Amino acid sequence: MAEDTGTVTGISGGCQCGAVRYRAGMAPRYVHYCHCRMCQRAVGNIFATLVPVRKDSVAWTGAPSFFRSSSKATRGFCPACGTPLSFAYDDSDWICFTLGSLDDPAAVPPVIHYGIESQVPWFHMDDGLPREATEEASQFLEGLESYQRRDAF
Ligand SMILES: [Zn+2]
Ligand SMILES: [Zn+2]
Repeated sequence: MAEDTGTVTGISGGCQCGAVRYRAGMAPRYVHYCHCRMCQRAVGNIFATLVPVRKDSVAWTGAPSFFRSSSKATRGFCPACGTPLSFAYDDSDWICFTLGSLDDPAAVPPVIHYGIESQVPWFHMDDGLPREATEEASQFLEGLESYQRRDAF
């Protein structure tokens, strides 16, 4: 698997209103689609596309808000316009930015699909990339308690 992102040496991006911006001074690793149910809910779409970089490489401009979506992770967003911006496990050295919030999404193509057990059945992407279920992807999820509201009105 091509885990690195070629000649990219950093990323930048921000929300749709411009109040919150971010930069990271490293090439992202393992850019991925996540079809898990929590990511679907968090980005309001049928999957999230996430760009991991080390937390210590990141500089924010403006003040993102963070929603604690589970006992182990938070999700950043712009408090003014609501754009979903980030996802990070508390215990990880990595933070993932939403690919669509990057200034140049085309520069960092995904290399794998995660959370494939929750992919909506009518969605097909014939990209030849590997696909993994959430359980295969991380032992870390054991004991995770979701704080998202699951029930319907
Ligand atoms: Zn904004
Ligand atoms: Zn996910």
